[in-house]
Amino acid sequence: MTVEDFLKGDLQLLIGPDWAPAADGRTFATVNPATEGELAQVAEASAVDVDRAVRAARAAFEPGSPWSRTTPRERGRLLWRMAELIERDADQLARLESLDNGKLVRAARDGDVATAAELFRYFAGWATKIEGTTIPMSSERTYHAYTRREPLGVVAAIVPWNFPLLMACFKIIPALTAGNTVVLKPAEQTPLTALWLGRLFLEAGFPPGVVNILPGFGDTGAALVAHPGVDKVAFTGSTEVGKKIVAAAAGNLKKVSLELGGKAPNIIFADADLERAVAGAALGAFFNEGQCCVNGSRLYIERSVYDEVVAGISEAARSIRLGSGTDEADMGPLVSAEQHDKVLGYVRGGLAAGALAAAGGGERARPVGYFVHPTVLTSVTEDMPVQREEIFGPVVTAVAFDSQEEVVALANDTRYGLAAGVWTRDIGRAHRTAAALRAGTVWINAWHADDVTLPRGGYKESGWGRELGSFGLDDFTELKTVVTDITP
Ligand code: ADP
Repeated sequence: MTVEDFLKGDLQLLIGPDWAPAADGRTFATVNPATEGELAQVAEASAVDVDRAVRAARAAFEPGSPWSRTTPRERGRLLWRMAELIERDADQLARLESLDNGKLVRAARDGDVATAAELFRYFAGWATKIEGTTIPMSSERTYHAYTRREPLGVVAAIVPWNFPLLMACFKIIPALTAGNTVVLKPAEQTPLTALWLGRLFLEAGFPPGVVNILPGFGDTGAALVAHPGVDKVAFTGSTEVGKKIVAAAAGNLKKVSLELGGKAPNIIFADADLERAVAGAALGAFFNEGQCCVNGSRLYIERSVYDEVVAGISEAARSIRLGSGTDEADMGPLVSAEQHDKVLGYVRGGLAAGALAAAGGGERARPVGYFVHPTVLTSVTEDMPVQREEIFGPVVTAVAFDSQEEVVALANDTRYGLAAGVWTRDIGRAHRTAAALRAGTVWINAWHADDVTLPRGGYKESGWGRELGSFGLDDFTELKTVVTDITP
């Protein structure tokens, strides 16, 4: 199917085997952030639809259902088939992601879509390797004790708009690998690739009800979190909404995993390979239009090289060409008017408080489209909102430091703890600093060095649990202990 035909068709809810309109018939517009024009109307799920979808997911999970009877080998093959279908439709998925989110088609294809296929293949291998252990008990009688990893049940996956397809995959894939069923709520700004993914799940042969997809707003997500038929909520989004989810999940004590906000410090020591450090700092600050929770948004630069590094990253920022998805460009627009205004508001607030723009600034980049100039702020103090709060846009602050102790204290002085980075040629200092940083991921002489094999998640208010790798899979299982008395 072409992207044009897809957008012209009925973009409905996937509940059980069927695509259906919302029970109350409501739809909402999804917008192209490069043109501000409406792309399509999408069905908006209400609490009634949430209830139907959770029932469908429960029925698909119950003992005796086709899904509960699939063997690990069959699950692995279904997941592998999804990787093939994603690769077959890579062009359409990349275009759709670009239209809906604003990112460049090239970035969506080589990044989001390629990684989604890779994730399906990686977890397809895990489907046959979910193992328990045999545990020698310490008591006097003779027992045989072992553990089993079993699926949790119905998983509600609630995802944000910055990597719409990929964030959905981060949750759906390990959930299915472990044998759960899923209700996915994509972000209201970017529902399109999730709906395309739903078509692929049906085509691949997943039994009806195993994956259900409900576009909608925060209240749709809230209805899912409150539903007693949901066993786990897997959420990526803001710390503020994460806290609401924790409170709302208390009703039936759902399991909750959270990947929340960040304000990652990126520390550059004077002995670093400065060319690579500047390139890495620019990647860390501006990748995905700066809309990335692990972005290196606080640069700490050793004083003797401060001017040189600020000049380098400012030059990198100025050389970034803005454009829409298919243009010869390096950076697209931000996702929405709201995000555009929020980011410019932070920059203007910072400048009003005394910060200086070494690149970019608080001006609208274009009359139409939510474009923002990549921005480097200096003369920043630690109490400014631009330094303390997550901006989620192409904005980086630069602060000078004098000692390792000082910079570690500054780096850790945040409520967040998702990612951090260190640039130095001193291997001992690199690892000492990595150990001292309170963050779920620390990159040394690198940024965005991600992989499907590596756990990711946050310290402090950046979240609960870890995603991906075998660690991420464990979070979608219950651990059962079985003990048998084998005393003669
Ligand atoms: P962002 O600030 O990046 O837009 P949010 O945390 O607001 O991130 O949203 C992330 C996801 O959470 C979206 O799918 C959104 O619709 C959903 N959401 C928003 N509010 C709630 C809520 N109270 N309960 C559950 N999900 C919510």
